Amino acid sequence: MIESSPPYDLDNSYPEIQSAISQGRRGNNSEAAATLEAFIEDHPNHVGALGHLAHIHELRDRPDLALPVYLRICDLAPEYPLARYRLAECYFDLGDYRKARLNYLKLDGSPFFEDENVLQRLTLCEPWPKRMARQAPRALFGIIKKFGQSGFASSFCKEVISIPSQNEAIGKVGVSGWFSYLNRHYISGDAWKDPKNPCDLCGGEKFETVFFYQDQKVVRCLECGLETVERKPPEGLDIQTGYYDRDSTIEEFIGLGWRDEKTLQLRIDLLKSLFQKAGEPFPQTHGSAFEIGFGQGHFLKEIEKLGYQVRGMETAPKLVAFATMELGLSGYVGSVETIDETPESYDLILAYHVLEHLDHPSRLFEKVSGILRKGGCLVIETPVAELAKMPFNKQMDDSIGYANYHHLHFFTPPHVRQYFEKHGFEVVGEYLLYPDTHPTGGFLGRKKETVI
Ligand SMILES: [Zn+2]
Repeated sequence: MIESSPPYDLDNSYPEIQSAISQGRRGNNSEAAATLEAFIEDHPNHVGALGHLAHIHELRDRPDLALPVYLRICDLAPEYPLARYRLAECYFDLGDYRKARLNYLKLDGSPFFEDENVLQRLTLCEPWPKRMARQAPRALFGIIKKFGQSGFASSFCKEVISIPSQNEAIGKVGVSGWFSYLNRHYISGDAWKDPKNPCDLCGGEKFETVFFYQDQKVVRCLECGLETVERKPPEGLDIQTGYYDRDSTIEEFIGLGWRDEKTLQLRIDLLKSLFQKAGEPFPQTHGSAFEIGFGQGHFLKEIEKLGYQVRGMETAPKLVAFATMELGLSGYVGSVETIDETPESYDLILAYHVLEHLDHPSRLFEKVSGILRKGGCLVIETPVAELAKMPFNKQMDDSIGYANYHHLHFFTPPHVRQYFEKHGFEVVGEYLLYPDTHPTGGFLGRKKETVI
């Protein structure tokens, strides 16, 4: 029997598709969409082109345009769960929770159905009376069992008492999402045991609730406005969960391009222009640099190529093994707390996407201030979306939103500047990446000659 070929095309080698891909890489997303749309007119069953087009619509923050394209792909190639997953996400972003739920449920049997994000969204989409009826008996039994544990009763009662003041946040995630938080925080998990600290930036002790996600409650400091997960495990979740030491995480980040030549060059160019605009020398002759959270070390290697003597620290043993053995870098497994370098021995310290993972970001500034020479520079890059002002789908974004489970603080640019100032730095340069979709800030701080 001759097997018939599928009625759709996946071949990406067409010049039109290639040119759309490179237009997209250069950030010309509308041009790339137009190229793909023209190609699809002649090749309506080309699943590869449709997939690129839908992805580009999503990058442009247009789930309304991506949705019909994903629907078409699901018709043509129902065996691809990725398109079904993205379709469900588009429905979710557009607020059609009933259709989102139907499509998430169709992922049953695919690896996506194991994904924490999908499970959470399914919960959020479930009508709450249905969820209540399903889970109430088990939840009640779970609560009764936990009442014997020290501190549980007072913690749980405080939660119940504060329901009226959390109305707005509960309304945002829905009663179903809030039940899910209660269940994970108090019954199926033990997040209620983690410490609840004053605001890391200003020391304020009064907060308002802004969001619930999985077992986390996000609160905003009433004094300085900094947002943070209310209860945080000491030294953050990365270390507690071993997330960055998993092969699947490492592969995912490689897929995101963290070691692509172009990405690295872009980072170096950004750094050069940041220093240049601030009138600071870069690269510095015979300079020494330290990177906190160096991943697999590719960026630190680029810094070394510029003439710096480099060293770094990372929390995940597998990442450190790669950096030291494959790239020959000097580095060790540790955390911000265990950084132990000679005082005032570095000219440059880098921390990309580290700050938001820490339970106490102030500890990073204290450590850096100790090991940086006077006049030396600290570069921080971190998400800076003003989430409170953003629509719900952005707040649920699993990269910059509250739904990034590993992010414990949510900064805005003024908060990052305050951290620098408070710890004896002058902010001498800044940049803002992806302002329309995923605002990310770069900050260059110079350690003052006299630290008060
Ligand atoms: Zn505060």
